Amino acid sequence: HVVVVGSFNVDHVWTVASLPRPGETLSGHYHTGPGGKGFNQATAAARAGADTSFVCALGDDLGGQLARALAAADGIHLRDLPCEAPTGTAGIYVDGDGRNSIVIGPGANAELSVEFVGQHAGTFGAAAVVLAQLESPVPAVEAAFALARRSGALALLNPAPADAVAPASLLALADVITPNETEFCAQLVRHLGERLSADQLPGLDDDTLHSGCRRLLPHGSVVITLGAAGCFVSHAEGALRGDARACYRVPAAAVKAVDTTGAGDAFNGALAASLAARPDASFADHLHYAVRYAGLSTERAGAAVAMPRDADVRARFAA
Ligand code: ADP
Repeated sequence: HVVVVGSFNVDHVWTVASLPRPGETLSGHYHTGPGGKGFNQATAAARAGADTSFVCALGDDLGGQLARALAAADGIHLRDLPCEAPTGTAGIYVDGDGRNSIVIGPGANAELSVEFVGQHAGTFGAAAVVLAQLESPVPAVEAAFALARRSGALALLNPAPADAVAPASLLALADVITPNETEFCAQLVRHLGERLSADQLPGLDDDTLHSGCRRLLPHGSVVITLGAAGCFVSHAEGALRGDARACYRVPAAAVKAVDTTGAGDAFNGALAASLAARPDASFADHLHYAVRYAGLSTERAGAAVAMPRDADVRARFAA
């Protein structure tokens, strides 16, 4: 059983020739759909085969209804805090060069509380993996990870988005963190005072990365996702099977990527599902599954809607 704690947003996306400037009115192609890192990751975990619960906060509005309908369609057990605030939204403009401007209205997502998480202790008690991100209030995520620890579940933190703060008290509760390059650098800058930007990361050798990971999360494993380059792993022996603190890389799957939106979410949901389903497999095996799952998700447009099913992954990468 996987419990995802996180955000649900209704994404409003306008494709425009150029991004709007102050005072400007443009017309563009519009589409809407579900989003939010929490919901994307819950969808990925469920479609990767895990019995999945999603702990979130929703408004009493059309967005909340959408979340309920989509969760039901994927068999996700919804544990939602009903809020007076509107369901989370994201307004996204994308220009002809693929650049974007985004405004997020956290709405109900900002109201997820320690109390509400505590009311669902039973859900956490049945979990093998608890997965969270930084689009929800940190105290609520810490409460979820504390429950994970109590029930012997693995706590997986995807420290995204990069501009959100993961305090040391939260990192201390995580068994595995899964930043992308930008998020990894943001954490190193914040916690270790290092001067490092994401464009310098590809130039770093494995020993330097390994040492950064070790200092950032001395007790746990760090998986840095590297887009089309797969991921770098600094794996700590602990609750997880594997070699004592080893570092290695897992290459990305060979795919024809058309839209990498939500690739990180696909990776996290699939990693959580794999860890829950195969507790005896090696950490590297779980990561091989996650890169394949995430790779296949990039062959389809969209985030939550693009999440493949476990059977699709197995068929696509059958040896
Ligand atoms: P995020 O979406 O959080 O920025 P990444 O871009 O690092 O995360 O992607 C997460 C994972 O998705 C990667 O580790 C990789 O396995 C897979 N992935 C992303 N982009 C591609 C791509 N172009 N080709 C193959 N796999 C990809």
